[in-house]
Amino acid sequence: MTYLADLFIDGAWRPGGGGERFDVVDPSDLTVITSFAAATEADCMAAVDAAAAAQEGWAATAPRERGELLRAAYEVLTAEVEQFAEIIVRENGKSWADAIGEAGYAKEFFRWFAEEAVRIPGEYRLSPAGDKRIIVDRQPIGVALLITPWNFPAAMATRKLAPALAAGCTTILKPARETPLTAAYVVEVLRRVGVPNGVVNLVTPVPTGPLVAKMINRPEVRKLSFTGSTEVGRDLLHACADSVVSASMELGGNAPLIVLPGADMDVTIEGALTAKMRNGGAACTAANRVYVHSSRHDEFVERMTAELAALSVGPGLDRSRQVGALVSTSERDKVAAIVDTAVAEGATLVHGGTSSEKGAFYDVTLLTGVRHGSSINAVEIFGPVVAVVPYDDVDEVVRMANDTIYGLMAYVFGEEAEAVAVARRLEAGMVAVNRGVVSDPAAPFGGVKQSGLGREGSSDGILEFLEEKYIALSA
Ligand code: ADP
Repeated sequence: MTYLADLFIDGAWRPGGGGERFDVVDPSDLTVITSFAAATEADCMAAVDAAAAAQEGWAATAPRERGELLRAAYEVLTAEVEQFAEIIVRENGKSWADAIGEAGYAKEFFRWFAEEAVRIPGEYRLSPAGDKRIIVDRQPIGVALLITPWNFPAAMATRKLAPALAAGCTTILKPARETPLTAAYVVEVLRRVGVPNGVVNLVTPVPTGPLVAKMINRPEVRKLSFTGSTEVGRDLLHACADSVVSASMELGGNAPLIVLPGADMDVTIEGALTAKMRNGGAACTAANRVYVHSSRHDEFVERMTAELAALSVGPGLDRSRQVGALVSTSERDKVAAIVDTAVAEGATLVHGGTSSEKGAFYDVTLLTGVRHGSSINAVEIFGPVVAVVPYDDVDEVVRMANDTIYGLMAYVFGEEAEAVAVARRLEAGMVAVNRGVVSDPAAPFGGVKQSGLGREGSSDGILEFLEEKYIALSA
């Protein structure tokens, strides 16, 4: 397969002005897939110029037309889903099933926001005295900078591009350095279906931080939509403050998964396996802390260990493997260090715990006897590691679950009424009850506390790219 590996600025693919490139590595065997163009400051500024020049025309394009372009992109991605998944596997390392799952999820954002483009809401009201009219229009906020991580290189790009384009914003996509090829492919699909020049641009700035800050500080850039770590998110919020740029932030998670005494163990094991092992655990929604009631603890551990033993870890292009590679050897080593520290702090290694030498693989792993508050409970593991913490009392587990700066995702397994009651007490933007995966383009995705600001998907997602304008009529 040949890969698009250049910058996309003002409707044209081109190398970076400085001629520099960086390697994109296949994490399953550490070979170089290709090299990608590095964007200089001049390239980044050219992308902002192109987006700014296209903004007025794109905002004036009929919502139906914007929607139909997104729908056309959805159709192309549907027809090319295997090719799409293969690019994701090559640069990210995830399993084939995870890549097909992501490709399917990613393209759905184009379909969903194709439908939302023609449903942008406004308001019309009479003043309380009955003598004046209040009209509230929603208008595109302006040029949007979209920064995406490597763990879902397709879905995080489409979850931002689709609502931005539907709203009438022009865009600059900055994918993660590890996974620019998927982003380039998505951008090419938008070009192929006829999205006008300048409406979508793609840059991979080197060095990242300073050049992103320069783009944010261009007055034409009015929106930042970021998915990534809380640490980088905080820095970007500071950068946004300088020119009062609107920021939507999908940041880190530390999801608790709570198994209540009345849980159906078949449903729990299936759900917990998905909540933990989907994407090899490299998801901000992944179950990071597994709290199991002591009355169900041994049963849970025994059954989960048997499930893990049946999983095969290996290259994503080998479709018989259920768990793929982590994105890089440094991510693999981070996961290994987290597990080693957990064991040093008193946890018991029941299964796994090994890294491969040849690729960025980490074995599926289960730890028991993890203490609430130990280091593994405080960090995002981002790997296929189940960390089981026993508990005795429901009030205690709610307190432990909420004892984190994060608040993205939580899972509760139990008798439904009790599980919903616990769900209501959890400090999280999303709670799954008796299910292991929640992502849905029709649902608002996002976190509370330091997991983020704003929501993506649903009818809220487009609002992040729109601003209200109040028009006051005198009669
Ligand atoms: P992850 O832990 O998922 O790699 P990061 O927050 O490090 O999360 O990266 C998410 C995205 O943010 C990537 O596109 C990455 O290149 C980008 N990024 C990393 N550091 C900075 C920075 N200082 N300024 C702007 N973007 C950054």
